[in-house]
Amino acid sequence: MRSNIKLGKISGIEIGLHYSWFIIAALIVFSLGEHFRQVDRNWSPSEIWIVALFTAVLFFVTLLLHELAHSLVAQAHGLKVKAITLFALGGISQIEDDASDAKTEFWVAIAGPIASLIIGFGCIAMAAALGWHPSAEPRTAPTAVLVWLGYINVVLGLFNLIPGFPLDGGRVFRAIVWAITKNADRSTRIAARVGQLVAFLFILAGLRSFFGGAGFNGLWTAFIGWFLMDAATSSYSQVDVAAAFRGRRVSEVMSRDCAIVDRGLSLQEFVDTYVLKTGQRCFAVEDHGHFVGLITLRDVGAIPRDRWESTTVREAMRPLEELHIITPDTQVLDALKIMTSNDVNQLPVVANGALQGIVSRSHLIQLLQARSELQHPPAHYAPLHRMKQRGATP
Ligand SMILES: [Zn+2]
Repeated sequence: MRSNIKLGKISGIEIGLHYSWFIIAALIVFSLGEHFRQVDRNWSPSEIWIVALFTAVLFFVTLLLHELAHSLVAQAHGLKVKAITLFALGGISQIEDDASDAKTEFWVAIAGPIASLIIGFGCIAMAAALGWHPSAEPRTAPTAVLVWLGYINVVLGLFNLIPGFPLDGGRVFRAIVWAITKNADRSTRIAARVGQLVAFLFILAGLRSFFGGAGFNGLWTAFIGWFLMDAATSSYSQVDVAAAFRGRRVSEVMSRDCAIVDRGLSLQEFVDTYVLKTGQRCFAVEDHGHFVGLITLRDVGAIPRDRWESTTVREAMRPLEELHIITPDTQVLDALKIMTSNDVNQLPVVANGALQGIVSRSHLIQLLQARSELQHPPAHYAPLHRMKQRGATP
């Protein structure tokens, strides 16, 4: 999730909005408008919309405070935080490093829900101080805003404590399992399985209430369930990736047979003699034996076909200055992180100014597949194996 609109920095953390956030902002403003119309029928339409808009902005601030709580606790424990992005389903704190111990993970995860609960109960207490009584509808604009913000933040805090990894509650649960088992990978696998179960229950409950006549709310619950299922499933497979490559260096997994292209070649010559004959997707560009850039099919595709004769490889390639370079000693997991955070599929491995090889996402996936086929033979071998065992025992 990348932010489309950057709002500024807090404590070195980039704060941004994803476009999908505006859909939710609009929905919130409209449903608040409806809500405030019912609170006091004497309000004029413009009063209602101004209060609704103001409340939506305050809601945005409380969401941001929830994410800041995660991020600032992470920073206090020495973890690097890159950005906070608010999107349709809430916020995401992009914490670059993984917590190295269960205690850190626990406090980073629980800080957000604690912040939401404090804000929520704080707003309700303020509304009460301004004369609102829990048994009645709020009468004034300030109490109506405070009561709405109070309830939504309490709900947000409690919802996030549901132990469905990767929700905050799931991370808290993972930290506890981690502290008990002393095994980070195993705790993620257990938390991700529980997360899939929770997500499945969300989808089930959502569909049930949709067919029971709840309409949009039912679909919304099912949609959140589907989103959680996706996230839990991908965290499960991330553990396999981490387990497979932990401690391994780029020099062990890079491909060294990278084709080298001269920078003076025209794109047409390059496509005819290299791309169509080798089927490779990425090529190193050299100038008098020096590595100067990479050219991929994506770069070629960005140039209109009728200009391939007149454009050189040098003009279409990604020059060295724009590439994220790693060395043979870089950890494979760090290389994967660099690829993900910069949205590239390959990284050149350079030592002493010379290209040593290329690490690509597709190559790493092939290595993973080979590894998992060796570890878990295809399922149809199992019955044969059992039969043999049965035959052997008298
Ligand atoms: Zn959170």
